[in-house]
Amino acid sequence: MGLSSPSMIDFRSDTVTQPGTAMLSSMMRAPIGDDVFGEDPSINALESLSTSLFGMEAAVFCPSGTMTNQIAIKCHTRPGDEVICDQMSHIYLYEGGGIAANSGASVRLLAGDRGRITAEMVAAAINPVDIHKPSTTLVSLENTANRGGGSCYEFADIQSIKEVCLQNNLKLHLDGARVFNAIIAKKESPKWYGETFDSISVCLSKGLGAPVGSVLLGTHDFIQKARRVRKLFGGGMRQAGYLAAAGIYALENNVNRLEEDHRHTKMLETALAKKDFVGDILPVETNILIFEVNGRYTSPLLTAKLKEHGILAIAISPTQVRLVVHLNISPQDIQTTISLIETL
Ligand SMILES: *Cc1c(COP(=O)(O)O)cnc(C)c1O
Repeated sequence: MGLSSPSMIDFRSDTVTQPGTAMLSSMMRAPIGDDVFGEDPSINALESLSTSLFGMEAAVFCPSGTMTNQIAIKCHTRPGDEVICDQMSHIYLYEGGGIAANSGASVRLLAGDRGRITAEMVAAAINPVDIHKPSTTLVSLENTANRGGGSCYEFADIQSIKEVCLQNNLKLHLDGARVFNAIIAKKESPKWYGETFDSISVCLSKGLGAPVGSVLLGTHDFIQKARRVRKLFGGGMRQAGYLAAAGIYALENNVNRLEEDHRHTKMLETALAKKDFVGDILPVETNILIFEVNGRYTSPLLTAKLKEHGILAIAISPTQVRLVVHLNISPQDIQTTISLIETL
């Protein structure tokens, strides 16, 4: 199952995973067809597996989580509308300005707690009906929150936000790139999400370990619109069933094991907390560890030092380092990393 550089322990992201032999052989066996004609049996199977897991009406398979988020935003808004989200949201920070470029929508950024916003904050950010103001039409949540260090919402807080959306006729979208990390960490059911959100984007290529792909879920009507927008964005794929088969394998085999990644992340946290050059560590809830570096290291110096020892991490700011644990990080890799941390 070799990593691209087998000697390296790669904590840069949970996107670096490589398919193992079992996933590869289910990809090789996948029945395929032209998905633009709706004729790829593997994609149809992935879409129906996803809808039944979340208890939603319909789903569409797309090349990336950026595309599923951007399609959702375009389907829920009209040009000039306003989207409410946290200021550190992926949809705002890391999707190339797509809210404006693809949907012509403006954005109201909220200063949440580690990427999580509240019902009160949402209620206060909704524009009144006034010809001067953009119409607020959509709220987007991220769970887990990437820049929040893999933080999770309490489900009751999501339900309170939903109440505000219902009262104000707003749609509610979930950027669930890592929603299964939240579901496992908080012992939730995907059905709760399906009942609450108007649309959900789920990445198969993050912690679930598929090489490519995301699924967007919603009502039949919504997904019909989404298929048109996917085509518009150039995301209509043909015999992509090979990729969908990897997604099915991931959903069937790689969800419950996320608990192991979360345990490994806690072990790294414990080792780092003992070091004098480590400042604040964002509370570890899932598979992401973000910590402040001070004293004799800056974050670029520390990541360079780790790299000399075969460990890859990312300096996300001059003083912050991020480690992400995933299914290609073995218990032995964790032990090796902890032993190295002890020597720094
Ligand atoms: C990775 C990620 C996405 C989607 O990214 P792609 O690389 O386009 O698949 C969306 N939201 C969050 C929070 C992510 O971490």
